[in-house]
This record gives sequence, C-alpha cells and structure tokens, in this order.
Amino acid sequence: MNLIETKKILTIRECVVGKKCDICGKEIPPTVKSFGYGKPLYDYYEVTTSHGDWGNDSVESYEHFDACSPNCADKLWKEYIRDSSGTANTKCISIEHINGWKREDTQEGEKDAEKRTND
Ligand SMILES: [Zn+2]
Repeated sequence: MNLIETKKILTIRECVVGKKCDICGKEIPPTVKSFGYGKPLYDYYEVTTSHGDWGNDSVESYEHFDACSPNCADKLWKEYIRDSSGTANTKCISIEHINGWKREDTQEGEKDAEKRTND
C-alpha cells in the first residue's frame, strides 16, 4: 500500500514562446496570440528533410525547419536537393503548410525539463 501525502510540486518546462524562420531569420508573428491550450497560432511552412540510405543513420537523418513563407521553403528545398555532401542517395523532403493549430505545439513540442522540489 502506498502512503499518500499531498505535496506542492514545481515543474519547469521548455515552452514554445515564439517562432523564427530557419532560412531568413525573421520572426514569424503569431496569427492568433492564444488558442486552446493558451498557445499562440502561427502560419508557416514546416520543412522536414531525411534520407532512406541503408543504416541506422537514416532514422537520425530527420531534420525539421520552420520557414516563414513559400519563398523561404522554396529556397530550403532547392539547397537541400542540390547539396551533394553526405551519403544521401535517397533524399526525402516534405513541406507542410501549418496554418493554426498543430498537435505537437501543445504536446510533444514541450520538452519536459522537469525539476521537482518537495516543499
Ligand atoms: Zn523566412
């Protein structure tokens, strides 16, 4: 049987408080300051690159970028496709237009860096 006691727990988390374009460095302004879980909403392009070459590194090859505009997303994918470094003979790229709510922004996007204190 567990002995239960009520304790005050302090949780410290990394939270998304803004977005910046990975290509031009411009800040991506929120379209709505808060919604649902109290998170701001953004209109941007999420670019994911990876490769499917043989080996475990294909799993680790996933990289995510945020682009503020179609122009920046366009620049990113062109540079990625033309980049001949590395082993990637099976380059993959996906571009998703995010306009508003995104599940990861409210859940997985918050990396728990928890620090608990017992009072
Ligand atoms: Zn940009």
